Amino acid sequence: MIKVEHLSKKFGELTVLSDVNAEIKKGEVISIIGPSGTGKSTFLRCLNLLEVPSGGNIFIGDTDILHQSADVPKIRQKMGMVFQSFNLFAHLTVLENLTIGPIKLLGWSKEQAEKKAIGLLKMVGLGEKIDSFPDELSGGQKQRVAIARCLAMEPEIILFDEPTSALDPTMVSEVLAVIRRLAKEGMTMAIVTHEMDFARDVSNRVFYMDEGIIYEEGTPRQIFDFPQKEKTRAFIHRIR
Ligand code: ADP
Ligand code: MG
Repeated sequence: MIKVEHLSKKFGELTVLSDVNAEIKKGEVISIIGPSGTGKSTFLRCLNLLEVPSGGNIFIGDTDILHQSADVPKIRQKMGMVFQSFNLFAHLTVLENLTIGPIKLLGWSKEQAEKKAIGLLKMVGLGEKIDSFPDELSGGQKQRVAIARCLAMEPEIILFDEPTSALDPTMVSEVLAVIRRLAKEGMTMAIVTHEMDFARDVSNRVFYMDEGIIYEEGTPRQIFDFPQKEKTRAFIHRIR
């Protein structure tokens, strides 16, 4: 579904990604781990074109998304993104947060968008909160709204950037439960996370990022129990 070849990204003199190569297949769940500052967020942001890569290729299916003819809004719609900081629209209700995208960007009717939104809010356990505003919700509830909002756009893949890092420990599990459920339903996902137990049991493969590349990748068992390279070993040891 996604193929990344020789992706690089520089910010001025700073090379953050030097040569990232990766493939994500339909239905796969990829966890991305690594020390902070190693370009995990930058990698996700390049995938959905929030950052312009300095070099390399990214294909979604057969579409070369870095080609000048690429339909950027369409690509972003196919690739939902969930951030650490929720990024909900503060002046809109929970329901409106979910319907605005489908109405404005997909051309859905209000009725159609609301019907879909209510179903999704029930799915994430927030059917009671449709008329609340974001600041009336807990962090865990906000993040579940953000995930539901992302799903309302019917993405083909969801990119999560540390979805639980801003949450109190008591709220982490309710958000992880929603992501687990999506994994079970076959959603393709790439998740930057520090939740190693979660990464271990939800992902098909783990990418360890360091030195501007995917330094080591493998099954959760390979990366967590039998890391082959020195820096991967040191990182896994440190976070244990
Ligand atoms: P991670 O998510 O792994 O912690 P990031 O992708 O956020 O790492 O950042 C990697 C490096 O790129 C860091 O040194 C960071 O300061 C730098 N960086 C990220 N975004 C920008 C930007 N917009 N401008 C300049 N430097 C940036
Ligand atoms: Mg980051």
